[in-house]
Amino acid sequence: EIGVCVLEKGSEIGAHIVSGAVMDPRALCELIPDWKDKGAPLNVEVTEDRFLFLSQTGAKSVPNWALPDNFKNHSNYVISLANLTRWLGQQAEALGVEIFPGFPAAEVLYNEDGSVKGVATGNLGIGKDGEPTENFQLGMELHAKYTLFCEGARGHLGRQLSDKFKLRDGADPQVYGIGIKEL
Ligand SMILES: Cc1cc2nc3c(=O)[nH]c(=O)nc-3n(C[C@H](O)[C@H](O)[C@H](O)COP(=O)(O)OP(=O)(O)OC[C@H]3O[C@@H](n4cnc5c(N)ncnc54)[C@H](O)[C@@H]3O)c2cc1C
Repeated sequence: EIGVCVLEKGSEIGAHIVSGAVMDPRALCELIPDWKDKGAPLNVEVTEDRFLFLSQTGAKSVPNWALPDNFKNHSNYVISLANLTRWLGQQAEALGVEIFPGFPAAEVLYNEDGSVKGVATGNLGIGKDGEPTENFQLGMELHAKYTLFCEGARGHLGRQLSDKFKLRDGADPQVYGIGIKEL
């Protein structure tokens, strides 16, 4: 038997999801082909796309045929990613996945051979002065055959793993950009 456990530092699945607005449903179709019947919150299909270059003298529109495919959103959906992840959490729970909201993974645990053994959650109920309150609860260790880290961009455990296992050696440096999006 395989047990699957998800730690989520937010108060519930979806509580810390930053954004995501236009979604390509391809991956969801592969994962849960009958997502429509199951009530996935993808309700608004994209009907029109406009791509503008903004300058001091005004806005110049780019014709759609001239745009690369990843800028074309027909058959994509305008969604709330927080609502979608909440719904995905319910689907996972229905399959027997154990979800622990409000429990951040605080530390990576290693086996003697250096491989990842699991994670430890942080202690709960620490006061502002750093001392345990009456709600103090010691963190727990979760050991697993496989531990998947999906903390989002620049997660702090991910960065530690990246340094320890030199995951970015030989890879292009990360690049950052600033964009503006109107919803
Ligand atoms: C402003 C903005 C607009 C965007 N617009 C779009 C868009 O229109 N279309 C699109 O496709 N994408 C969009 N994106 C990108 C998209 O939101 C991300 O690519 C996607 O959310 C990344 O998913 P993820 O699962 O890797 O990480 P996240 O969605 O960040 O999820 C990480 C989860 O891990 C939890 N977590 C983190 N650390 C820990 C820990 N130590 N212990 C326990 N839990 C932890 C967090 O609480 C969170 O729930 C946008 C992003 C931003 C910021």
